[in-house]
Amino acid sequence: MEEFTNAKEFFEKHEIADFLTLDLKGKVESKSVKEYMKLNGLYFAFNTNPCKRGHTIKDRHSHCVVCDTASISFALRNSQYGFVYIAGSECGEIIKIGTSKFKSFREFSLNRTSYAGYNDWKVLYSFSCNEAVSVEKKKKKELSIYHSDLFEYKHDGKKHIASEVFKCSYDKAYSMVQEIILKHKLKTNLVNKFNDHTGIYNFRNLIRLNDSAK
Ligand SMILES: [Zn+2]
Repeated sequence: MEEFTNAKEFFEKHEIADFLTLDLKGKVESKSVKEYMKLNGLYFAFNTNPCKRGHTIKDRHSHCVVCDTASISFALRNSQYGFVYIAGSECGEIIKIGTSKFKSFREFSLNRTSYAGYNDWKVLYSFSCNEAVSVEKKKKKELSIYHSDLFEYKHDGKKHIASEVFKCSYDKAYSMVQEIILKHKLKTNLVNKFNDHTGIYNFRNLIRLNDSAK
């Protein structure tokens, strides 16, 4: 159990976006409140009636998530909620777009495994989203003309193939992700955004030959 802070700090610490939460203002978590939360994609309520230790943040099933923080990922396990990130490798002049389910993504796992054969990955842009999974599917389609399936690399003595790697600029990937967000009216919450003033990640947009020849 962790020391109780206020709801805003608690949600920030656990990377729970505002759009997942409901202020109950001391009201009872009635059946109709739970139904409302379910219909509106709200997974956590705050200012609820206190648990026996006096906390007032609960999941939809009235479990105190302060007493049991493991119930946070449990509550979200079947949701589409997650984090989307765009990472760039300056050496490889390539972009990766990926998702992670419960925690915002950091570059070290890409760098530790030398993903696609490079270890200078930097997460340039990331946000949480109510439908992270569908962003992942849609971006694949939109960026497929830049997709490169040539990234075989070795890690731990094994051969891997990096999917999700695109030969395009950070700008291109960023504006494509923005389009998906707007078009599908997705809810997002910014985690970080790198402003590429000097154009380090302004890679060439290389269209695959067999696609451009069509
Ligand atoms: Zn509690």
